[in-house]
Amino acid sequence: MGDVYVAVGMPGTGDAEVCRLKRKNDYLCRVMLFKDIIGQKKVIADLLSALKYGRLPHAILLSGKSGHGSLPLALALAQYVFCENPAADDACGVCHACVKTSKLIHPDLHITVPAFGAEAVSDTFLPQFRKMFVENAYMDMADWIAAHDAESKQWNITAKECLNIVKKLNMQAYEGRWKVQVIWMAEYLAKEGNRLLKIIEEPPADTFFVLIAENEDRVLSTILSRCQVYRVPLLHDADIYDKLLAEGVEEGEASVITRLAGGNYSDAIRLREHTVGSLDEQFISWLRICFKGNAVEMNNWTDGYAALNREEQKKFVRYGLNFMHELVLLKVVGKALRLSDDKAETALKIKNLLDLEQINEICRLLDECGFGLERNANIRLLMFDAAIQLKNIYKKTGVVKQPLHK
Ligand SMILES: [Zn+2]
Repeated sequence: MGDVYVAVGMPGTGDAEVCRLKRKNDYLCRVMLFKDIIGQKKVIADLLSALKYGRLPHAILLSGKSGHGSLPLALALAQYVFCENPAADDACGVCHACVKTSKLIHPDLHITVPAFGAEAVSDTFLPQFRKMFVENAYMDMADWIAAHDAESKQWNITAKECLNIVKKLNMQAYEGRWKVQVIWMAEYLAKEGNRLLKIIEEPPADTFFVLIAENEDRVLSTILSRCQVYRVPLLHDADIYDKLLAEGVEEGEASVITRLAGGNYSDAIRLREHTVGSLDEQFISWLRICFKGNAVEMNNWTDGYAALNREEQKKFVRYGLNFMHELVLLKVVGKALRLSDDKAETALKIKNLLDLEQINEICRLLDECGFGLERNANIRLLMFDAAIQLKNIYKKTGVVKQPLHK
């Protein structure tokens, strides 16, 4: 039996704590309290208020990107409902029910996830789901598919799983009073989802449905119309930044990651896994080398780029787009919004060397690079061609009359 993790997070300590204990036959787990959730104060307040006044509908849909926190919200809500000793605004985090919920093994917490295989049911996939949830409560469908190395598979929520849901929810609650059915990525319910209409419309007593979807407009309309929708918006930059600092990320890097993550904590986590410190230098160096237009230097730069892993390559493109966007702001409104002082200084130097049309062209070029990267284009060909195009963009309008200095 390998090492096992048991949640020991106490309410009020900030993020969930996961610590290594030598216990057998236990699951990975994570304490998920409202106070552990990044931002989303308004959604939390709305949910708590609805619960307090008995107005929480028996079927809700949390609509928003995974990186905005819909899964942590759903599970914090379940934990609050099950908690044996809840405070006014959060579960206790330590009672029997809280511990079980945080391990995603509370017998009255039912979780449905997309799976592959015509007869697939979520129970088979849940051990992996629990493990991943502990590592990253903000995981998304791309993480889920990657973990199974099954990109070519048809992912869905099957008819058999729908029948299972009906069967489980028609049983008595095992502990306490409530039953909660979470359906993660409800857009994967195809027409089989219609088997759930009746139970969502008239659920057994004390049963909540919490559906989660990234693309609300792809959820079956018959299901959507039976749910109250709570929108889970983009996170504020400040919330992501503070979270990264709390996790020990150095200020400068936290600032770059926050800027690139664009309010999505899943993206912040992916960015964090790869060093971002030198992106500014890399991007400016690309602009400079292409300006000079020396084929050998452009070729060497392309070799260096091709040696990066795919996530780093994508990050470079996103950084470039972000930088160009800030450059437009500098030109149009005279102020960059999301550049630190030293980066703003570099941007100021470049701003006068490019006109808006050239900036627009460079953005289009970066978009094309991003598109090629997503589709596994040949990186060397893609980026060498981009370098030549950039060289031509500089020449196009003749605004650039002096070399790009450091
Ligand atoms: Zn509790």
